Amino acid sequence: MTGSFKDFEALPTLLHFRELGRDAIILASAGNTARAFAYAATILDFTAYLVVPEAMLARLWLPIRPSEAVRVIVVEGSHDYAGAIHFASTLSERFGIPPEGGARNVARRDGMGTSVLEHARVTGALPRHYVQAVGSGTGAIAAWEAALRLRGAGFDGPLPALHLAQNTPFAPIHDAWTDGTPIRPDEDVPAQLARVRAIVSDVLANRNPPYAVPGGVADALRATNGRTYAVTNEEIAEAQRLFEETEALPISPEAGAAVAALRRGVAEGAIGAEEPVLLNVTGNNDALLRRDYELHPLPAWLRLTPEEVAADRLDRWVDRFA
Ligand SMILES: *Cc1c(COP(=O)(O)O)cnc(C)c1O
Repeated sequence: MTGSFKDFEALPTLLHFRELGRDAIILASAGNTARAFAYAATILDFTAYLVVPEAMLARLWLPIRPSEAVRVIVVEGSHDYAGAIHFASTLSERFGIPPEGGARNVARRDGMGTSVLEHARVTGALPRHYVQAVGSGTGAIAAWEAALRLRGAGFDGPLPALHLAQNTPFAPIHDAWTDGTPIRPDEDVPAQLARVRAIVSDVLANRNPPYAVPGGVADALRATNGRTYAVTNEEIAEAQRLFEETEALPISPEAGAAVAALRRGVAEGAIGAEEPVLLNVTGNNDALLRRDYELHPLPAWLRLTPEEVAADRLDRWVDRFA
């Protein structure tokens, strides 16, 4: 309902938090995650603090009227997702709001793994290949875990090989996997941000993915005999065009990156033309939602400056967060 596969993680996460007796959640987002959680928070009436860089505010809308449960905190003058992540963790500690948890959030991974479960339900088998554009790589970890679970439930065959796409020139997971370049989120940040600005799939611009941690992206790639791809803006545009022409559906640049990776995997012989492939089209480009729904912008609930947070001048907001 908000145009990306983040909808699959938001609802189970809030339900899980509610089950655990928590009454609020805080998370940072560059856009799609905030929309998905704002939607889930509205329909479940569960308080969600969503920290977003100011540059992303214009992308925040819902196909229903947002409720009071949605509290958007804008980082003024910021474009940077990593900055919003830092902000969210500071506010979480300062005001005691439970953090969403990222890749460590089991409800998020279980929600995202449902695409693999659905493939098994519809076809009666595991896919041979799983293709997705990755930023954090949580969706890929989730696909691996879902496949493990299906095997435990009696499905045979090899684990689906993960084929993970990023958008060059910003492709930290691809660089780490293909030539061992370590992921250093805080090193030469201006150069990293310049590369982020050069990609069309900006939702994939995560500087600190859970790559080397046990059970993380590298383990998932190893366990499934996976591959990574760094596709160009041009390949993405061509893939989006091809998909729309073939399927009559517009898709987002991130989904276009996955289609471009699939084309390359087939061309390079890593994916057999007759083998079953689960292509995760993780987002559309909002065209269908704009056609079918009235979109409601999400208002800012609080605006903070990076200086205010860095200097710990947050006392005056204690009542607001109570
Ligand atoms: C978040 C997102 C991704 C990447 O997902 P990760 O789990 O962070 O790797 C891909 N496509 C779209 C449309 C997204 O919103």
